[in-house]
Amino acid sequence: MELVYATYEPVCHLCGKWIDVEATGNYGPSVDHLVARSHGGSDELSNLKPAHFLCNSTRQNRPIEEWRATNTNELEWLISLAP
Ligand SMILES: [Zn+2]
Repeated sequence: MELVYATYEPVCHLCGKWIDVEATGNYGPSVDHLVARSHGGSDELSNLKPAHFLCNSTRQNRPIEEWRATNTNELEWLISLAP
């Protein structure tokens, strides 16, 4: 995870908000696979992007467009609370 955060700005590639790298829990940092490993994605840096734990965990292994399309109001509200 350190390498990903050393390479990219700490911006969530899913919701577009800043990530507090010191935070823990839902708004803390995690590393998301652009193409999920279960869909053949690699662990190479080019396939890894910073994401909130919340965004990452709700995306699971779905395509990003599908995650965006199925966002619930509750999830958008949770994301809006990110510091
Ligand atoms: Zn996010």
